[in-house]
Amino acid sequence: MPKIKRPQQKRKPFIVNRNCRFCADKIEYVDYKDIKVLKALITERGKIVPSRISGNCARHQRQLTYAIKKARNIAMLPFTVEK
Ligand SMILES: [Zn+2]
Repeated sequence: MPKIKRPQQKRKPFIVNRNCRFCADKIEYVDYKDIKVLKALITERGKIVPSRISGNCARHQRQLTYAIKKARNIAMLPFTVEK
């Protein structure tokens, strides 16, 4: 069977920002009441920004996810934003 050449898939370039803002600020624990910080890390539709874009480290991203979910539960952050 002849090999069919497929066009090479190009990887989408994404903004690589490899510095965790929480590590930089030496924050040990991400506070769910700190809405200013959490708001900066969700999209305008209310989704959590992935760490590959925000540049957060795994440890802080995990804490952040938890904090955002907590904040949503007490109605400090939206689950979704209606258009
Ligand atoms: Zn970190």
